[in-house]
Amino acid sequence: MALLIFEPKQSKMDFQQNENQRMISQMVRDFAKKEITPHVMEWDEAQIFPIKLFKKLGDLGLMGILVPEKFGGSGFTYTEYITALSEIAQVCGSIGLSVAAHNSLCTGHILQFGNDEQKKKYLPNLASAKWIGAWGLTEHGTGSDAGGMMTTAIKDGNDWIINGTKNFITHGKSGQVTVVIARTGEKGDKRAMTAFIVENGTKGFSAGKKENKLGMRASETTELIFEDCRVSADNVLGEVGDGFIQSLKVLEGGRISIAAISIGIARGAYIAAKAYSKEREQFGKPISHFQAIAFKLADMATRIEASELLTFEAADLKNRHQPVNQISAMAKLYASETSVWVSNEAVQIFGGYGYTKDYPVEKFYRDSKLCTIGEGTSEIQKLVISRESLK
Ligand SMILES: Cc1cc2nc3c(=O)[nH]c(=O)nc-3n(C[C@H](O)[C@H](O)[C@H](O)COP(=O)(O)OP(=O)(O)OC[C@H]3O[C@@H](n4cnc5c(N)ncnc54)[C@H](O)[C@@H]3O)c2cc1C
Repeated sequence: MALLIFEPKQSKMDFQQNENQRMISQMVRDFAKKEITPHVMEWDEAQIFPIKLFKKLGDLGLMGILVPEKFGGSGFTYTEYITALSEIAQVCGSIGLSVAAHNSLCTGHILQFGNDEQKKKYLPNLASAKWIGAWGLTEHGTGSDAGGMMTTAIKDGNDWIINGTKNFITHGKSGQVTVVIARTGEKGDKRAMTAFIVENGTKGFSAGKKENKLGMRASETTELIFEDCRVSADNVLGEVGDGFIQSLKVLEGGRISIAAISIGIARGAYIAAKAYSKEREQFGKPISHFQAIAFKLADMATRIEASELLTFEAADLKNRHQPVNQISAMAKLYASETSVWVSNEAVQIFGGYGYTKDYPVEKFYRDSKLCTIGEGTSEIQKLVISRESLK
């Protein structure tokens, strides 16, 4: 358990970080200090997706963190994965988001549903970050209602012809490998969608508009356009018709990733606000001496702690192949809303300075908002949680 800003405590769950988590935390901190922190604002302001950084993260084993060693990955569990993600997001949410989209969406889909040939071909290159991965489910007209997608794939001999446009795809331009989900049967049939692997450079496949975003600006988000894009039947992931069902499984892990990013952002904002509250003096004393500010910090710390408990529980259950549909939605809902709430309070503690780009909290605040939207909005998480509760 990564209780990085709080005292370890006794419980029936093991809250101590394991050796791998400690090693990963330290490694990410050392790396981030040198390679991420100095560039965070430059990347953010210019919306630069720092692709070379991801190659370095690949060298550290963080781009194939869940991939077994036999396929060139680090062979860790969700516990180590979310430790790494939250550490990265504590420094830069954008980099955390890109690491998550690469690991748990694209790579995760191939890992869970690919055949041996596909795993041998793609996983080593994804794990080393030689290839960056993208994952395309969302469309302009279908976000929360992704099952209503309009992108089609029609069988033509031994090939499939894909037509349509995907929207808001992380690494839509820079991804060398994309897993795309397309309709292969009747609209309304959840078993009529199929997942395909499409490589960059395939004729009829291109990136469209790049979004100019509020936050997560160093994480590239673009359209994906398919115009009579021909892919071989060898590129089908799992069974024809299973693509949407597979996606829901992939998103269960994705939600745990977004919860981890949320925790990292919240922690970053909390640490900055706590330090500032001890330094900033008004009315002749540090503002932390005012109960109004101290109580904000108390609430922030409590909500971060609760987010960590939910998220590490979800990760632990995922590691043990237990059902995580509801717990991953709970972790994502609570941690993402906490992230927005904590970073908002952090801006408030900084006062006018929090509203400027001279301090880090305005960026935490902007980045945090994505967490309540991406990979299922808070409202959709409540649908998932309530459906399970009412079963
Ligand atoms: C930066 C970024 C990166 C992304 N990366 C990817 C990616 O890599 N791959 C990918 O496939 N997608 C990606 N997405 C898409 C993301 O998952 C969707 O934006 C998200 O699922 C919401 O869909 P939407 O934006 O169409 O909102 P909509 O579905 O239009 O929702 C609008 C509002 O209506 C609410 N709503 C919708 N349906 C219901 C309902 N049934 N009950 C109650 N409320 C409802 C929503 O909660 C929301 O508040 C990304 C998005 C962003 C912004």
